[in-house]
Amino acid sequence: MRALCWHGKGDVRVDNVPDPKIEDPRDAIVKITSTAICGSDLHLFDGYVPTMESGDILGHEPMGIVAEVGSAVTRLKVGDRVVIPFVIACGSCFFCARTEFSLCDTTNRNAEIARKAMGHSPAGLFGFSHMLGGFSGGQAEYLRVPHADVGPIKIESGLSDEQVLFLSDIFPTGYMAAENCAIEAGDTVAVWGCGPVGQFAIRSAWLLGAARVIAIDRVPERLRMAEAGKAETINFDDTPVYDRLQEMTHGRGPDRCIDAVGCEAHGVGAFDTTMDKVKAALTLTTDRAHALREAIMCCRKGGTVSVPGVYVGLVDIPFGAAMNKGLTFKMGQTHMQRYLRPLLELVERGVIDPSFVITHRLPLDEAPAAYKTFRDKKDGCIKVVLKP
Ligand code: NAD
Ligand code: ZN
Repeated sequence: MRALCWHGKGDVRVDNVPDPKIEDPRDAIVKITSTAICGSDLHLFDGYVPTMESGDILGHEPMGIVAEVGSAVTRLKVGDRVVIPFVIACGSCFFCARTEFSLCDTTNRNAEIARKAMGHSPAGLFGFSHMLGGFSGGQAEYLRVPHADVGPIKIESGLSDEQVLFLSDIFPTGYMAAENCAIEAGDTVAVWGCGPVGQFAIRSAWLLGAARVIAIDRVPERLRMAEAGKAETINFDDTPVYDRLQEMTHGRGPDRCIDAVGCEAHGVGAFDTTMDKVKAALTLTTDRAHALREAIMCCRKGGTVSVPGVYVGLVDIPFGAAMNKGLTFKMGQTHMQRYLRPLLELVERGVIDPSFVITHRLPLDEAPAAYKTFRDKKDGCIKVVLKP
């Protein structure tokens, strides 16, 4: 089959690779009909994530038609149309029982590597390095789906691929980011990053009762999309974010702050950004945390900082400010399986149509160029959907 493979920093190619096979009775093989590129894929593309190997198949936002099921699979049958969440969870361990699916204790095949890096191993993820299981991803014609009875959600209504595809990641991720804010009546929510995750965080903040949403980025079309989502916006290229946010909130600061940027933040003339680059080059730090630092400094005392943005290794943040301001932190890879059913219902009821975020629709063979267009924010690119 054809699949998008990682070959090194900045080098992805569509290769011919062997078709996946059932390896466990609980597996299914899905023929992929639509699959998206995520900001998380950019961290792999840009070489921020360790334990990648040449030939690894990327992609964790896929959907398609079940082509084959293992003998133990009971909920799915050949021909079912499914969206596949990026988290692989067993559904029965201590953490899955608490619906903390991205912390599943059993699905990371390389748990020992993760344990060394993090103290404990989170769940296995599709297409996201050997430290997180070394599972082949879904930017391919076919995908092997472990624990097929636990992850995939069947689509039985007439909704299009584009309307349901983002249940695989970015809609639940934006939603959990807003839920993690524990929004109270009257709250102002500030969202750093107007990429796809930020866009869903903005819309979810409204769904969860925000009184005001302020979004921060510097890419004009992304700011416009945030405004279409009823957010007020700040362009960090021409406006000092801290000053503007304090002004907008009468010196108190936003009540809830969401970092939907992650480990590749840009800063304008910010001293810490230069330091990050120097330190990353010297391997004293691995992540560029400008947005997270700014969120901590801007957040009101006693407020919440929610972090859906992905970080990988060592990050220096003003922890003293966070401690003395009494901030609450909530973060994590999304507990996908918790959100699939309720968010599908919102799409079915027409409360939200997630396809608004798509700007590019391309065949799988054009994925290598699409990675660059998406990373460099060229051609108005906000979200790419690939058709294998
Ligand atoms: P993206 O790269 O398209 O968007 C990031 C946006 O942040 C860009 O628009 C960029 O211009 C903006 N930005 C950069 N520096 C900034 C700054 N200093 N202040 C404000 N904005 C800034 O990516 P995305 O797909 O929207 O993903 C965002 C993050 O969420 C990534 O780190 C990704 O890995 C992560 N993510 C996490 C999960 C999860 O389960 N927690 C799931 C999906 C994605
Ligand atoms: Zn993703």
